[in-house]
Amino acid sequence: MPNSIRNALLRVAFLLGVGLATGAYFGFPVYGLLIAMSGLFFLQLFRVLRLERRLARRKRVCVPDGDGVWPRVLAGIHYQQTRVRKHKSNYRRLMKEVRQSTNALPDAIVALNSEHEIQRFNAAAERMVGLQKRRDRGQRIDNLLRHPDFVKFLRTGDFNVPLVIPSPRGEDCWLSVQLVAYSDNNRLLILRDVTERTRLSRMRRDFVANASHELRTPLTVLAGYVEAMQDDDVLKEAWGKPLEEMQIQSERMRAMLDELLALSRLEAKTQASLEQPLDMASLVREVAVLLGREGHKISVDVDDGLQILGEASDLTSVVTNLLSNAMRYSDAGTNVEVWWGATPEGSALTVTDHGEGIAEEDLPRLTERFFRVNRGRGRDSGGVGLGLAIVKHALARHDAVLTVTSELGKGSCFRCDFPMERTVRNPVPISSAGSM
Ligand code: ADP
Repeated sequence: MPNSIRNALLRVAFLLGVGLATGAYFGFPVYGLLIAMSGLFFLQLFRVLRLERRLARRKRVCVPDGDGVWPRVLAGIHYQQTRVRKHKSNYRRLMKEVRQSTNALPDAIVALNSEHEIQRFNAAAERMVGLQKRRDRGQRIDNLLRHPDFVKFLRTGDFNVPLVIPSPRGEDCWLSVQLVAYSDNNRLLILRDVTERTRLSRMRRDFVANASHELRTPLTVLAGYVEAMQDDDVLKEAWGKPLEEMQIQSERMRAMLDELLALSRLEAKTQASLEQPLDMASLVREVAVLLGREGHKISVDVDDGLQILGEASDLTSVVTNLLSNAMRYSDAGTNVEVWWGATPEGSALTVTDHGEGIAEEDLPRLTERFFRVNRGRGRDSGGVGLGLAIVKHALARHDAVLTVTSELGKGSCFRCDFPMERTVRNPVPISSAGSM
């Protein structure tokens, strides 16, 4: 038996003995014993109540000197209290550090629940988008960031595609938006100030557009002189080959400047309007008739009832580039197939050729500016390496994506997928298939 318990029992026995002896001295030993027991009982009750009050008030218990049961019980409680206090203070310090470090981040971080309601945010969020703790906690984030692209971004749930929107604070500031999932359905919205990057890319775009525009005038003059010299029989006799080469190169340069300008214009534009339905079937047929004169057999299979909400100039450029590539990179006389029709996700346009094909490792780079699989061959065929970059940008304006499948020596298929919200069905569909 531990000493403390033995001592406590001895102390109780001693007090009861004193009570009994005192009672016996006055002739009432039982009363003496009862008074001693009641005294002990009330003393313990008083101690328990005092302890209970201290614990209820979350006060620290004081440990009295001695080695009895009570000092040991109180020492145990005191030890647990000290541990809890230490954990709490460590936790508070940790939380403070986390808060300080998230507040020191240059990016705005907003924690959202599954309903996209604001739970917490850091200091950068207050600075960059003007969030206020008392006012905005619990509000839906799209009530505060109302840009249509952001609202659509939240609605579609495709958070892998990065988004850049103007800051709600104006001042020509731009924010990149990222949404990252964490625990259950909660999400972290990360907003980064990309004003500088956007400004630089706008400067680069404007520079390319201005330079291309300015270079066109001197080039037209040079091409005019070359043409005039080619018309002169004496000069043609002596300079026939160089003049022809100069004419080809000036033509190539003009095509390059035109494509650079087209690309800059596309980059500067926002999403294509959703208001104007466009007759894709007629557009495809027109382009096929125009290009079909160059020796290829173009099979056209289009759904006449299916229209697209978009811009004619962009989609003409898409069809023209894909068809002219299909013809450029396949032998004359081979078949090129164009298909336009409905898909479960909306609609699609495919252009298939049976030409040289593209190696698998080159497929991801096809839409890079000036990328040509075979630089020499591309140049010979008049390509400048901007056609597919234009196609990609024009499609992006229509929320569409380009997918390329190809096999070397067998041919390629370029597929453009348009979403349902851009696809409309004409009330009287007439299906048609034909050959140009
Ligand atoms: P280019 O003006 O050189 O054709 P594009 O951007 O249109 O530039 O195409 C980039 C490169 O992709 C081309 O140089 C060519 O190597 C390759 N390419 C494009 N379309 C096809 C195709 N239908 N078949 C084979 N290769 C193709």
